[in-house]
Amino acid sequence: MSDIRTQTINGLEVHIDRSLCIGSGNCVNLAPEVFTIRQDAIVDFKDEVDDSIDASRLVESCQICPVDALLVYDGDEQIVP
Ligand code: SF4
Repeated sequence: MSDIRTQTINGLEVHIDRSLCIGSGNCVNLAPEVFTIRQDAIVDFKDEVDDSIDASRLVESCQICPVDALLVYDGDEQIVP
């Protein structure tokens, strides 16, 4: 069952597919102002996301997901994965 969270951050639309996340923490380490690990050991957006994060670091933090649980769209174009 899919469990998708979506937020627009610094002009990019970011999707978390929580059904895929394995809780590795890679994205949290790179973008701690955006992502957090919840009590179920799965990632989620922070309650208050810092929208001013550098876009390239945000994209990189999604690219390093080992299971492609993080998708990024720039307008109509999917840029991650
Ligand atoms: S990098 Fe991917 S698998 Fe690891 S916590 Fe983030 S979303 Fe989950």
